Amino acid sequence: MEKKKMSLPTQIVIALIAGIILGLICYFAGLADFTASYLKPFGTIFVNLLKFLVVPVVLLSMIDGIISMGDMKKVGSVGWKTVAYFLVTTAIACIIGLVLANIFNGAGLFPVLQKAADAEWTGKTSQNFMDTLVAMFPSNMWSAFVNADMLQVIIISLLLGGGILAAGEKANVVKSFVSSAYAVIDKVMTFIISLSPIGVFAMMTWVVATQGPNILGSLALVLLCAYIGYIIHAVVVYSFSAKAFAGVSPLTFFKGAGPAMIFAFTSTSSAATLPVSKECADKLGAEEDISSFVLPLGATVNMDGTAIYQCVATIFLATCSGIHLTIGQMVIIVVTATLASIGTAGTPGAGMIMLAMVLTAMGIDVNMIMIIYGVDRLFDMGRTCLNVTGDISCSLCVTKWEGGKIQPKA
Ligand code: ASP
Repeated sequence: MEKKKMSLPTQIVIALIAGIILGLICYFAGLADFTASYLKPFGTIFVNLLKFLVVPVVLLSMIDGIISMGDMKKVGSVGWKTVAYFLVTTAIACIIGLVLANIFNGAGLFPVLQKAADAEWTGKTSQNFMDTLVAMFPSNMWSAFVNADMLQVIIISLLLGGGILAAGEKANVVKSFVSSAYAVIDKVMTFIISLSPIGVFAMMTWVVATQGPNILGSLALVLLCAYIGYIIHAVVVYSFSAKAFAGVSPLTFFKGAGPAMIFAFTSTSSAATLPVSKECADKLGAEEDISSFVLPLGATVNMDGTAIYQCVATIFLATCSGIHLTIGQMVIIVVTATLASIGTAGTPGAGMIMLAMVLTAMGIDVNMIMIIYGVDRLFDMGRTCLNVTGDISCSLCVTKWEGGKIQPKA
């Protein structure tokens, strides 16, 4: 008889629970040092592999995203309106995420972790905004890659992506090289992510053994913070824009978008939800040629849920690391998370890899990611649900802006 393989999310949940239980046992038995010496290294190997992915994934996925946005020239005003809607709502999402995370943080709900003896949780010495601005621009492409200087890698991706679009037909070879290299790194990413149960188990045991049971309450709080952000964004930004620009009432909007939202919540993939989103948008009254353009582009580059998650998680992990972020650094988080969400693929867990990029850009130790890695699926369900809701709302608004009529279908 053929044995059915356990799905990755199930493996991760089991690893998480096993890690928490063993961590609690080690905490109460005073074996925290043992976990630091013998379990944490396995988690570190996994995090190192994630770090290794960050530069190629960011570079290739951002260039790929820009190439896919390049088509907007062909579709003229629809393209620009769509991208404007995506960028404005994503920037608002980042601000909502940051404000909420700061409220939670200000209320003392995010913990400062006790530093384990071997921890290297040091933030970049806080530069002022102008210094950071200058440092974003690379003088040497390779040194940006070697040092994983993420702000510079983003600028390089924007320049190369823009160059490919400007070169038109002549860049066809580079275009197909990018998509083929991206397909390769995507496979490598899938392999590394398949190792995550080992990383989650090792790191969770170590975190709970060194920090005690309180850390579990903090995880529940950071999840709550992100979900409040998702809900505010859906209700205020999406249903408001659907009403104000397309004349669709909030109730009708959420009823119509419901099936796609539920599918996204369970599948955690905007790309896989695409056929359902298309049906929902068309039923709500979007014009078919507009939704055929907006939705696939949205499933690739419009990720407001991911942006909220990245902002909340960055503030949470900065606080855990004992790093106090200045207003200037928060502005950089908004810019980086907006770009990171554009670079995020519409597949399960992709936002987490991009979170590694935001953390690296902010000088926060990527190892900290393991604190929330085990519950990433729970974040991912909400953020994917929000991501597809934004695409549907956008297709309705653009239909109206293009002078079309919203004609709901039965
Ligand atoms: N799973 C998300 C999506 O498909 C991306 C992410 O991980 O943030 O939209």
